[in-house]
Amino acid sequence: MSRWINARLGQLEEYVPGEQPQDMQYIKLNTNEFPYPPAPAVAERLDKAEINALRLYSDPTCRVLREKLATRYDVSPDEVFVGNGSDEVLNFAFWAYGTDGVRFADITYGFYPVFADLHDLPVSIMPLREDFSIDINDYLNCRQMTVIANPNAPTGLALSLDEMEAVVRSNPDHVVVIDEAYVDFGAQSAIPLTRRYPNLLVVGTFSKSRALAGARVGFGIGNKELIRDLNRIKNTTNPYNINRLSMAAAEEAVQSRSYYESCIEKVKQSREKTKQALRGLGFLVTDSQANFLFASHPKISGKALYEALKQRGILVRHFDRERIRAYVRITIGTQEQMEALLTACQAIINKGE
Ligand SMILES: *Cc1c(COP(=O)(O)O)cnc(C)c1O
Repeated sequence: MSRWINARLGQLEEYVPGEQPQDMQYIKLNTNEFPYPPAPAVAERLDKAEINALRLYSDPTCRVLREKLATRYDVSPDEVFVGNGSDEVLNFAFWAYGTDGVRFADITYGFYPVFADLHDLPVSIMPLREDFSIDINDYLNCRQMTVIANPNAPTGLALSLDEMEAVVRSNPDHVVVIDEAYVDFGAQSAIPLTRRYPNLLVVGTFSKSRALAGARVGFGIGNKELIRDLNRIKNTTNPYNINRLSMAAAEEAVQSRSYYESCIEKVKQSREKTKQALRGLGFLVTDSQANFLFASHPKISGKALYEALKQRGILVRHFDRERIRAYVRITIGTQEQMEALLTACQAIINKGE
């Protein structure tokens, strides 16, 4: 750190992303990326003409992409904001709405506390129940901004639409953010509620279920006043926040519904199969509605399992944090990758006996 940095910025805790190793080919099950390539229409769109157009700035209003998302989610284009990854949308939301404090779970997406710290916001951390489920009573009438990942990460557990509605309805004077990064893998979306609740902001991403993690495109859907707030922040920080190639890729991805639906179906089938097989090996596995499993085994620590898998060329995520140290988070890959994972887990567990 230099001696010139603003003293407060110099003290911030940074978010630690999952490893993206460049040294060798791992079976990469650690950052919840999609195991299949983007839709064919995405590759077709990124042609020479698109490259030549890079000399021009991208559309700062993201008009075409917003229109396509609006059609897809049955809202109006002025109820859609497009961000540089959903991380940007979340950052802007914390910045805009967190003044009275921000409430979120003790075990959830690790970026929430980082954003709260960045914007110097008070936080209320609500412990999940023993079984890692969210007790929505913790979020009723809470008089501060609420952020809930649904399904939650890294547990994969989801709330029902009624539960989300109860939270949104009971906090009319604060914004409720529902982070739906994994919603396409099985949970219910809260987007239809945005019609009735002006304080609800639903955040989505192209990174997990649309195979575009590297393109960095996310979105927020909510009342048009909320969307105007987010645009205000964007236009005072980085008006061209979405680059041309990513915007083009995302436009095609929204249109390619049937391709993604069939890939998602495969991911869900692999998830259920892998879950059963892991339970057969003695693992404790949550009932994940996401594209990952959260698993622990009575015979081996989370860290030891992570390391043993890494030695066998398989990367999973381990969080060295209270309550979840025993667990690893395993992204659902192709069926072939999951079979390799299961073979490795079996060998590791048997060796420990
Ligand atoms: C991956 C993830 C995000 C961030 O996604 P990007 O759109 O790639 O920035 C947001 N929230 C949760 C819960 C996630 O797991």
